[in-house]
Amino acid sequence: MVPGVRLVVLGKQGAGKGTQCVRLSHHYVVPHVSTGDMLRGEVKSRTPLGQRAKALMDQGELISDELVMEMVGLRLREKDTRARGFILDGCPRTIAQAEELADIVAPDHLDLVIDLDVPTAMVLGRLASRRVCMDCGANYSTSSPPLTNWTCDVCGGEVVQREDDTEEAIRRRLELYERQTSPLIDWYQHHDLLMSVDGTGTPDAVTTRCVQAIDDRRTKPVTSP
Ligand code: ADP
Repeated sequence: MVPGVRLVVLGKQGAGKGTQCVRLSHHYVVPHVSTGDMLRGEVKSRTPLGQRAKALMDQGELISDELVMEMVGLRLREKDTRARGFILDGCPRTIAQAEELADIVAPDHLDLVIDLDVPTAMVLGRLASRRVCMDCGANYSTSSPPLTNWTCDVCGGEVVQREDDTEEAIRRRLELYERQTSPLIDWYQHHDLLMSVDGTGTPDAVTTRCVQAIDDRRTKPVTSP
């Protein structure tokens, strides 16, 4: 049986994190934990958290560290993630979240943090054409739509443009990524957990690079966070 993994995937909006995380979660048979999907679920169910998060999300602003980490902590303490690990997508986004995450997984530690590296010019093009399933979060694009009339091939849900994929919100999210999230790359590098993976090329090629990076790391385990 393939061993599980505790993996964080970083990368700008549109770097292909969602697509790669779904593929990696199937490969390693561990849950894909996406904070964006979880928050969109809270918004859809109109929970108190969803009501607080909606306006911030629509503007491309970040939700507070406290609210996000409470949600992530609950999820990562469930039996399935405790037993086999997780592919964490969209979190951490700040150093404070990274510190909290290390506490949540302790006494275990992360196996690896992958930084999916794609040039900004390329992600802008991908985001403008991105379309997603409202129900399961599957990703499509205007050049590679679902087989029938914007109906999800995976679950039959409606495939739409995300409300925060407007030009203004995209610009804001990329700006916040540079300011708050990219310092995480240095932080994880310092903790000897970071591996940069070239995110350009076909989805299959990128998945192969990610699996290689993870499997290489298994032969050289670490002891920090
Ligand atoms: P993207 O990476 O394209 O911004 P996500 O689906 O990961 O999309 O997140 C959508 C929105 O959800 C973010 O713009 C932000 O408002 C909120 N969000 C998701 N994860 C976090 C997080 N870890 N901390 C704060 N806000 C978050």
